[in-house]
Amino acid sequence: MGGSCAQRRRAGPRQVLFPLLLPLFYPTLSEPIRYSIPEELAKGSVVGNLAKDLGLSVLDVSARKLRVSAEKLHFSVDAESGDLLVKNRIDREQICKERRRCELQLEAVVENPLNIFHVIVVIEDVNDHAPQFDKKEIHLEIFESASAGTRLSLDPATDPDININSIKDYKINSNPYFSLMVRVNSDGGKYPELSLEKLLDREEQRSHSLILTALDGGDPPRSATAHIEISVKDTNDNAPMFPSPVINISIPENTLINSRFPIPSATDPDTGFNGVQHYELLNGQSVFGLDIVETPEGEKWPQLIVQQNLDREQKDTYVMKIKVEDGGTPQKSSTAILQVTVSDVNDNRPVFKEGQVEVHIPENAPVGTSVIQLHATD
Ligand code: CA
Ligand code: CA
Ligand code: CA
Ligand code: CA
Repeated sequence: MGGSCAQRRRAGPRQVLFPLLLPLFYPTLSEPIRYSIPEELAKGSVVGNLAKDLGLSVLDVSARKLRVSAEKLHFSVDAESGDLLVKNRIDREQICKERRRCELQLEAVVENPLNIFHVIVVIEDVNDHAPQFDKKEIHLEIFESASAGTRLSLDPATDPDININSIKDYKINSNPYFSLMVRVNSDGGKYPELSLEKLLDREEQRSHSLILTALDGGDPPRSATAHIEISVKDTNDNAPMFPSPVINISIPENTLINSRFPIPSATDPDTGFNGVQHYELLNGQSVFGLDIVETPEGEKWPQLIVQQNLDREQKDTYVMKIKVEDGGTPQKSSTAILQVTVSDVNDNRPVFKEGQVEVHIPENAPVGTSVIQLHATD
C-alpha cells in the first residue's frame, strides 16, 4: 500500500485497439479497462496511462480531447501524457462504506470520432482506522453465586475498514477470574464475551477491573481499549455470628428493673438484608428480655433488660440462648449461650452462729493461749 501502486488489468482483447471501428460499435464497448489503487492516494498520483491503455498516441490526448466524463470529482486526465490522475481525496470508507467491493466507474471520452470507453477503478482498503469502542467505561454486574462458565456479553468495537483491516480479535488482561471468548456471528461479526473461570466471593473482592482490547488485522495492527468494571453482587452466603459461642454478662443483684446491659453484637459479612437483621432471646424465663438499639448507621445493638428483681442468694446464674438472624433468602441464623452471673452486693450483715457465749480462762494462762473459736456466716 502507499505510493502510486496503481495496477492495470486487461480483461482480454478489446476493440479499443481498432479505433476506426469503434464508432460502429459505440456504445457497446463491453470490456472496461480496470485499474486498482489504494484509497487515500495523494492528489496528482498516477492511476495509470489511460491514453496508452486505450491505444491512443500522445498526440491524440490533446487532439481528440481525452477526458473523463463521469467521476470527474475524483479523477482527471493529464492533457500531455494521457495519465489518469487522482484529483481529489478518495476515502474508501466514505465512498463505499461497508461494501466489500469498492469500484468507481468512469467514462473516458475522445472526440473525432466520438468514442466512450468504460473504465473501472477498484479502490483497495487501507488500514487507516483503528477499532473503536462506543463506551470506554463498561460497567457490569454479576452475582457472587454465579457458576463457572457464566458468560457476560460485551459490546463489540467497530472499525470502518473491511476484511483483514477490520476487527480481528479481542483480548483482556491476564486475571484469575475471567477469560475472553470471541463469538463469530453468521454475518462474520465478532462479539466478545467474558467467561467466569474462578468462583467469586463478594466478601473477599467486591469488584474486578479489566482492560478489554480490540485489534484489527492490519499490518501493523491498530487497537482500542476499554475499561471494564465488574461489580460483584451480594448473595446470602454467610450466617450472622456472635463474637464468641458463649457470652458472659455479670449483673449486680440489686439492679433496678428495666435496667439494660449491652450484649456483644453479631456480625455478618453479607450486606443489606443479607446482613444482621433480628435478635431473639430464647428461654429468658421472664426474668430477662431483649431490646435492640439501632444506630444512625443502621447497626443493631442488642441489650438485655432485667425484668425481675435478682437475688444472688436465690439464683446466681442464668443460662439462656440468644439467636441472631439475617434477612436473606434462604435465611441464615446462629445462636450463642448467654450466661448471666448475678454478682454479689453487700446486702447481708454477717451473723455469728453461736449467739451469746460465756468463756472461762485460768488466771495463769500464757500469752497467746487460744480462748474460743467462733463461727459467723454471710
Ligand atoms: Ca480504510
Ligand atoms: Ca482498521
Ligand atoms: Ca448473611
Ligand atoms: Ca455474600
